[in-house]
Amino acid sequence: MIDISREELRAKLIFKKSQLSKELVEPKMHINKCDIHDVIDAAEALTTREKEHRLYGLKELKIQQLDNVIDKLSHNNDIECDTCGVSILSRLEVVPTAQRCFSCQTRVEKLKLK
Ligand SMILES: [Zn+2]
Repeated sequence: MIDISREELRAKLIFKKSQLSKELVEPKMHINKCDIHDVIDAAEALTTREKEHRLYGLKELKIQQLDNVIDKLSHNNDIECDTCGVSILSRLEVVPTAQRCFSCQTRVEKLKLK
């Protein structure tokens, strides 16, 4: 595996963040009453609005997590696995919000399943 440099990774994450920010459209707060003809329409409108809010929240969280990694990359030479301390730069290219190396993450997930 070819190791990615800190600067390359930082540039990629900044690009990813800008793409996500463009997609971040504030969900509507109100339901257009003209579109509601019966109870099913109302339920559908509420479900759609709820989904939009959840999606918005998830995207906001992801942008925040990307910001944290970008910030770390601006200050540190390397980002290490929270558990074993090995460099996780190349892993962050694939999973930008990773906090552990693949082995440690796999171990943690196996423990959670038990
Ligand atoms: Zn590890």
